Amino acid sequence: MATRFKTGSAHRSRLLYNGAIIDAHNHIGMDLEGVTQLPQSLLRKMEQSHVQKCIIFPFNEIKPGKAFSTANDYIAKVVAAHPEKFIGFARTDPQHPLAVDEVRRAVKQLGLKGLKLHPRSQMFNPSDEQTLPLLEACVGLRVPILFHSGYAYDPIPPMIAQVAQSFPELSIIMGHMGCSEVCTPTGVEEAIQVARGNDNVYLETSRVMLTSCIAKAVQVIGDTRVLFGSDTPYGSQLDEIATILRTGLSETSLSRVFSENIMELLR
Ligand SMILES: [Zn+2]
Repeated sequence: MATRFKTGSAHRSRLLYNGAIIDAHNHIGMDLEGVTQLPQSLLRKMEQSHVQKCIIFPFNEIKPGKAFSTANDYIAKVVAAHPEKFIGFARTDPQHPLAVDEVRRAVKQLGLKGLKLHPRSQMFNPSDEQTLPLLEACVGLRVPILFHSGYAYDPIPPMIAQVAQSFPELSIIMGHMGCSEVCTPTGVEEAIQVARGNDNVYLETSRVMLTSCIAKAVQVIGDTRVLFGSDTPYGSQLDEIATILRTGLSETSLSRVFSENIMELLR
């Protein structure tokens, strides 16, 4: 019976949404607390949720290597084994002296397509002077940066606003739309306002789980800069897809949010 139920819920999500789904936020590796996700496990989730492609990047890794070089190598290896399923982003610590070299290597040699930065895990301010060389390098490499943008402990959206204004050519994805540790409409509202004022800022939906906030984001900034993400293994693809489907967005907006926006951004 358990198997029947599982199949049933996957079918339900397919019936509700028949278009392509690309998930912009997934971790592969092992975090400091021992939370892990192997490629096979993510591939199984993708099959159950009818997700065609996932952007993958390291966790706050237990063994990242120098400036995350070991973790980035692993992501590149996983992408090489499943190029039709995964798109790899690098991760680094902007305070590490080798951060810029590592991101250049990850993009030029490993073929990774973007960068994930976590201001709280790596304890840095995105708009601080020491982050500038890395931001400049990403402009030169023409790759987007996905910033974790949780609200509860440190209001990151205002720092992102400064970065977006200083680097109008840089595409910035606000992971979790300003809302993660504790999800409040206030954090999301702040992120929406940052995106409204800066055309180079995209909002990614993982862990928000507040249907009205996602609907509002599309209403305020339009449907071309909101991206679907799940944050596996911390979030669930099926639940995150269901949240988006409950927003009441039009078919056109759904296909922008689920796949077209991220594909255009990475082109
Ligand atoms: Zn995450």
